Amino acid sequence: MIDLHLHTTASDGLSTPDALVREAAAAGLRTIAVTDHDTVAGVTAAAAAAMRAGLTSVPGIEMTASAAGRDLHILGYYLDIDDVGLLAFLAARRDERRARVVAIGERLRAIGAPVDLASILDVPAASGRALGRPAVARALVAAGFAADISDAFHRYLAEGRPAFVVRPGVPPADVITRIHDAGGLASLAHPGKMHVDTLVPAFVAAGLDAIEVYHPDHTPDDTARYLAMAHAHGLLVTGGSDYHGPGSGRTSGLGSVTLPADAFAALETRAGAVRS
Ligand code: AMP
Ligand code: ZN
Ligand code: FE
Ligand code: FE
Repeated sequence: MIDLHLHTTASDGLSTPDALVREAAAAGLRTIAVTDHDTVAGVTAAAAAAMRAGLTSVPGIEMTASAAGRDLHILGYYLDIDDVGLLAFLAARRDERRARVVAIGERLRAIGAPVDLASILDVPAASGRALGRPAVARALVAAGFAADISDAFHRYLAEGRPAFVVRPGVPPADVITRIHDAGGLASLAHPGKMHVDTLVPAFVAAGLDAIEVYHPDHTPDDTARYLAMAHAHGLLVTGGSDYHGPGSGRTSGLGSVTLPADAFAALETRAGAVRS
């Protein structure tokens, strides 16, 4: 089984790369990609653990872009995780994430839900760890301001809620170019969650290589529609569980959503062609 969408403690996942690989092997996965938000800090450890466990791993990332004022997630695969331009770009995105968490903390204080974010913010930049709203959500739960993670988003952190802070945002075309410049392939993550179907032709024009057709938040209709869209635009197909670890508040477990072997073979072939 193949799962190309997994998170670790390098971003907002709860499993370390080592633990994730153990969980993946136990769930029967044979091929994995760690795709943390705006960081590749978990990729090397995951690759080493995967090799020890006899799994195949693909270097990956889930990068954040903004289109029409909304977040958009773009997955990158087979990229060179030592690419200097990529690493500088990601470091800038993580600085923005950190500043956003600080701003969210100030909002929360102003509206009477003060949480201590010091331990969250106490992460050396050199660690490459990406901060995000899920960590703030956990702090809100721990402080008793929310019943659970999804309640914390609903009450405070989601778009339109009182502690929502707009991120500076990077255009999708820039993110796609960064992935290409690092030798990777770019896939539009869970489009069914993003409401950007009308923008897909523009993303294709910007060089998009694939669409994430298989994702836990996709209905059967979504899956069929994006499969057809991929075929219509000549795009590759990716998929995975978007697993964030045990007890992350996500319902999708490892092995719940996988990528068919023929789709993976096509991706692998294209990646080889890109590299040569
Ligand atoms: P950020 O990247 O800091 O904007 O945080 C976004 C992340 O928070 C997403 O990638 C999800 O993992 C998580 N998230 C967003 N909305 C919710 C929600 N309603 N409930 C739980 N997790 C969420
Ligand atoms: Zn996440
Ligand atoms: Fe995502
Ligand atoms: Fe994800």
